[in-house]
Amino acid sequence: MLRARPAPVKRGREGGRAMAREVHVIEHPVVQHKLALLRRKSTSTSEFRSLVAEVSMLLAYEVTRDMPTQPVPVETPLARTTAPMLDGKKIVLVSILRAGAGILDGMLRILPSARVGHIGLYRDPQTLAAVEYYFKVPKVMRDRDAIVLDPMLATGNSAVAAVDRLKATGPRSIKFVCLLTCPEGLRHFHAEHPDVPVYTAAVDSHLDGHGYIVPGLGDAGDRLFGTK
Ligand code: URA
Repeated sequence: MLRARPAPVKRGREGGRAMAREVHVIEHPVVQHKLALLRRKSTSTSEFRSLVAEVSMLLAYEVTRDMPTQPVPVETPLARTTAPMLDGKKIVLVSILRAGAGILDGMLRILPSARVGHIGLYRDPQTLAAVEYYFKVPKVMRDRDAIVLDPMLATGNSAVAAVDRLKATGPRSIKFVCLLTCPEGLRHFHAEHPDVPVYTAAVDSHLDGHGYIVPGLGDAGDRLFGTK
């Protein structure tokens, strides 16, 4: 069984309300093994894509750990009973384009009934600021649990902008899932959204001057889609 690491949960107080700033680092050996393969520069595009999907399935397992279930009547070959089931339609996977699509594929294998949203953001290469070019989520977000997907929480600019937009639609809850992050990205993200827990396979050393995570795995979008 995967175990969300109990800590690094940092708590603060803002506007009189306790803020969790939760960071769940999934340290399961299978996740760490696959992450090591993702980091290797010799990993091919097709291997990279498969590995991202596999790690994402394992992260899906962790991020849904506390999701509510309902007892549902079930007829087994032997008897009638009730068994707990998730309401998959209440979950909205929100992929930040374009690299979020890699995580989305894996997550949908575990949560096939989830609804899907897309947020199109690109990084201005000069300022590294997030610029929005697309936004589409289910019409009614109230009562839905949103899980935002982006492989790299780097500067935090895209993550902050995506969650800003998503919060305006009023979902019941928001979580953020990435493969990798770094202290700078976490600080920026949680300064703006202390109430949104982050689920990640690792917190790397630092960001370089171009906004890349070090040691990281390079450009996740280019490695997923073979565009470099
Ligand atoms: N985006 C990436 O794809 N890689 C990084 O290291 C940072 C942002």
